[in-house]
Amino acid sequence: MNIAHVSDWICIYEFLRSDEAPCKKREDYLEWSEYFMAVAFLSAQRSKDPNSQVGACIVNSENKIVGIGYNGMPNGCSDDLLPWARKASNKLDTKYLYVCHAELNAILNKNSADVKGSTMYVALFPCNECAKLIIQSGIKKIIYMSDKYCEMAEMKASKRLLDMAGVECSPFTPKHRKIVIDFDSINKIENRDITCSTAPGCSH
Ligand SMILES: [Zn+2]
Repeated sequence: MNIAHVSDWICIYEFLRSDEAPCKKREDYLEWSEYFMAVAFLSAQRSKDPNSQVGACIVNSENKIVGIGYNGMPNGCSDDLLPWARKASNKLDTKYLYVCHAELNAILNKNSADVKGSTMYVALFPCNECAKLIIQSGIKKIIYMSDKYCEMAEMKASKRLLDMAGVECSPFTPKHRKIVIDFDSINKIENRDITCSTAPGCSH
């Protein structure tokens, strides 16, 4: 290369000085749908239910999250005192009469005036009680990860209601089967760990 100008030297100097990767757009970023389903799954990790952790994430037409929820006991009702059992000789000793489903909590947790026209991302296909809430709240689309209880009457009734009300239901097929959250990744530069004293801009 024939270096004839000072500007060429400056370019070479900048290139050698830089230890950063080329500033090119990432290719493996999360798509919106994966992001929202991942938020639903992350929310599920808050659940105290020992058998079933379900999360739901409601998104409006601008791709903004307007509600998040997971399955749990009602506010003020101790999840240490109420039962978590699935089976018991007395139905009062099962969780089913007490637990608020993720869909209910996501709708009630809304941070907007309403959720009309929104999409709900949810881990499990909603039961009939949640289908009623979804329909009445004006949610127009459900994207679910699993329909493993499809043989249950509650799910059949749910589909009947959602179909009649014109709520679109679609199974979700993620590009990434697993998404790992690594809290330490923020302290890495090009696979190198950095300490606080070497972090750019750190004054500690
Ligand atoms: Zn439900």
